[in-house]
Amino acid sequence: MESGSSSSSKEYDVIVLGAGVEGSSTAYNLTKNGGGRVLLLEQFSALHTRGSSHGGSRITRRAYHEAYYVQMMNEAYQMWGQIEREGKTQLYTKTGILLFGPKNSRELKRTIESLNVHGVDHEVFNAEEGMMRYPHQLNLPSDHKCVLEKDGGILNATKAVGVIQRLFTENGGEFLDGHKVKEITPGPIIRVTTDQGVFTARRLIITAGAWAPAIMATLGVHLPFKFETMRAEVLYWRAEHPEHYSPDVFPTFGMYDATHHPFYGLPIFEYPGLVKICAHMSVCVKPDARDEQPSPDTEGTKQFIAKYFKGVSTTPSVYEPCIITKTPDENPIIARHPKHANIVFGAGFSGHGFKLAPVVGKILTELALDLPPSYDLAPFRLDRFSKYSSKL
Ligand SMILES: Cc1cc2nc3c(=O)[nH]c(=O)nc-3n(C[C@H](O)[C@H](O)[C@H](O)COP(=O)(O)OP(=O)(O)OC[C@H]3O[C@@H](n4cnc5c(N)ncnc54)[C@H](O)[C@@H]3O)c2cc1C
Repeated sequence: MESGSSSSSKEYDVIVLGAGVEGSSTAYNLTKNGGGRVLLLEQFSALHTRGSSHGGSRITRRAYHEAYYVQMMNEAYQMWGQIEREGKTQLYTKTGILLFGPKNSRELKRTIESLNVHGVDHEVFNAEEGMMRYPHQLNLPSDHKCVLEKDGGILNATKAVGVIQRLFTENGGEFLDGHKVKEITPGPIIRVTTDQGVFTARRLIITAGAWAPAIMATLGVHLPFKFETMRAEVLYWRAEHPEHYSPDVFPTFGMYDATHHPFYGLPIFEYPGLVKICAHMSVCVKPDARDEQPSPDTEGTKQFIAKYFKGVSTTPSVYEPCIITKTPDENPIIARHPKHANIVFGAGFSGHGFKLAPVVGKILTELALDLPPSYDLAPFRLDRFSKYSSKL
């Protein structure tokens, strides 16, 4: 597909490299906020399944212990609503999100504190109450507690990226898929060479997902070795009684242990009768060799299901791979190139960036257009990794 206004000139004000959710949101935001002539480049065909933004569902929530994510999500909820209205498409389904784990989980405690501080609508209850509320679904050990954040829910991922790309081209942006960027030559006018031709722009935004570290290295930015690209194993499991796991009776959920949230899932949403239950992290892969690893080890997830869920099969019915690009602190990089101020990076969303994408698009637009950023970008700085790498 080639969409948008075609043009004889190959000069742009801004080029966005990578049409996952972050790049598409950024390109759309640029067309609404004075970005001028904007080109969005994608190596594969639009809405492909090789990166991080495909699939029928992503969890959305304000339940973060970091204040900056709660603030970003407050705006993201509004921006998703605006995208739904402009795109005349429902993308968000409210289910609530249930977080549960041992009472002594530091992660759970900090998240509850954050919800209280920020006035986010939620309820906290013990394991007994949890099993009364979800009698057909949950087995909770007595030392567990739960928090239900009311506005948590599901974003329809591929559909959302498609709507955002459509709005981008309707606003005058140009989208070229099937264009792999091979070389970037920095300068006041940046030259972007693809396998289909050469494009120039005054500004470049790189939102290349799992491919970002390699592209950044060609620009002299060597990310630390701990910037991991991992294949996430998205698994769907059959519910014996689908009515117990429909989104109107059972929420999205996340399990927290002492310091992490190793498992998460969603009620039946994409495939009839199938609940989505997944481990958060998995094997490291190179993005172009994602499927060369052996089939996923599902043992941990099976044990999690057997321990916590009622009436869910422990044999997976559907498996769909996806890639997570994880930074050491699980915060993304949203920053300018240290030497070339007209090149901006948005990468390393560490398995939780979908819900944030409209706000990320806004911030990357501000950085690229030299506007004051709406948020404190300290948690997302590039040089916070300098302790891992002397080359930054
Ligand atoms: C299994 C799974 C579950 C997740 N669950 C959640 C969740 O519940 N909630 C949530 O908020 N987030 C979740 N996430 C995270 C979220 O989906 C990602 O943070 C987000 O999709 C990252 O988007 P991206 O645009 O950075 O990357 P991508 O979607 O990978 O986009 C990057 C794009 O750049 C293109 N590209 C790369 N190199 C080039 C090149 N040389 N030339 C042209 N194009 C190029 C790629 O082809 C790709 O399309 C999940 C992720 C996974 C994998």
